[in-house]
Amino acid sequence: MARIVMKFGGTSVGDIDRIKNVANRVKREVDAGNQVAVVLSAMSGVTNQLVAWCNQMAKLPDPREYDTVVATGEQVTIGLLAIGLQELGLEARSWCGWQIPIRSNGVHGKARIESIDTARMSAAMAAGQVAVVAGFQAVGPDERISTLGRGGSDTSAVALAAALGADRCDIYTDVDGIYTTDPRIVTKARKLHRITYEEMLELASVGAKVLQTRSVEMAMKHRVRVQVLSSFEDKPGTLVCDEDEIVEKELVSGIAYSRDETKVTLTRVPDRPGVAASIFGPLAEASVNVDMIVQNVSEDGRFTDLTFTVSHSDLERAREVLNAAKPDLGFEALSDDPAVVKVSVIGVGMRSHAGIAQKMFQTLAEEGINIQVISTSEIKISVLIAEKYTELALRALHTAYGLDAA
Ligand code: ASP
Ligand code: MG
Repeated sequence: MARIVMKFGGTSVGDIDRIKNVANRVKREVDAGNQVAVVLSAMSGVTNQLVAWCNQMAKLPDPREYDTVVATGEQVTIGLLAIGLQELGLEARSWCGWQIPIRSNGVHGKARIESIDTARMSAAMAAGQVAVVAGFQAVGPDERISTLGRGGSDTSAVALAAALGADRCDIYTDVDGIYTTDPRIVTKARKLHRITYEEMLELASVGAKVLQTRSVEMAMKHRVRVQVLSSFEDKPGTLVCDEDEIVEKELVSGIAYSRDETKVTLTRVPDRPGVAASIFGPLAEASVNVDMIVQNVSEDGRFTDLTFTVSHSDLERAREVLNAAKPDLGFEALSDDPAVVKVSVIGVGMRSHAGIAQKMFQTLAEEGINIQVISTSEIKISVLIAEKYTELALRALHTAYGLDAA
């Protein structure tokens, strides 16, 4: 008998018919002889509405009360599904985060799970009861409800799978798996059968928003096999797993992009030791996340140009910080360009193969696309290019790395 965790996202529980559809899927797993825990999101759109209401009550709502409000969406769906399962003749009950309990560090609005005591839930499951668990919820050291950040029910599901020692964690969503790139842009994008945790982490953080990043980190740490699949169609999805489980490794597994980048350039910065520290220190203190960085070699050895990228929402703060420090830093001008996109090719194969970066540069050159900034990590190469070339670059790279569907 296998133990499985099934997680359904907001669109999968978006209305009553869809919740009944979920009940049928759960019944199939129970009929197949499995012990099942189900983790649910709120109905799609509900959490957004709850957040909006809090913000209409106050400019800065009390984070504890914010959590009290936004955690309610999941309480509705778990109760409804438990009723639906009972209607199908199954034993089922709902569990709020505090009832299990799922304990967090109590940082309201973006809490981290610290421990899960599965004893009561496990006993109920072993006795044949389906456990229907509210995603997104935990209880903090202050004994109050805390939520795990937007998209947090993915993390609830993976954490629960780890704590229960589940054989599988199936994440049902409105896409049917992880693709080599965004299928809305590249029609030849292919669904991946398997992808490593590390590759998935890179894909998650650069724009393929299928799983909350933290859920992938958690899966990697506890070696939870996560399957991403459609709740509307019966087809195999994508398994996120250990590298050892992947027999035929591609050099490049996926190509991601992020439009949420602004290029900031400081010109004629006096070139002396400590200059980078004096620029990026204050930015870090102001919680401005800096991503790609290049420092140009100065012509006369006295001045240098510095270019880096920040997210659109951090631009205003970055400008303020740098302008305030201008007298100390002594740069000539600050300029920014939001019309850029970061394109990244990702693959664990890069560790052992040369020439992957060269192929990216060559391909973009042949399309006449200028590369503005480059950054690399062990399994990723990213370039910053003009935003208007996004589609062209993705399609050309997808073909060049042999990823196109037949
Ligand atoms: N309902 C929460 C949200 O919309 C949690 C989740 O769905 O993962 O962010
Ligand atoms: Mg989600």
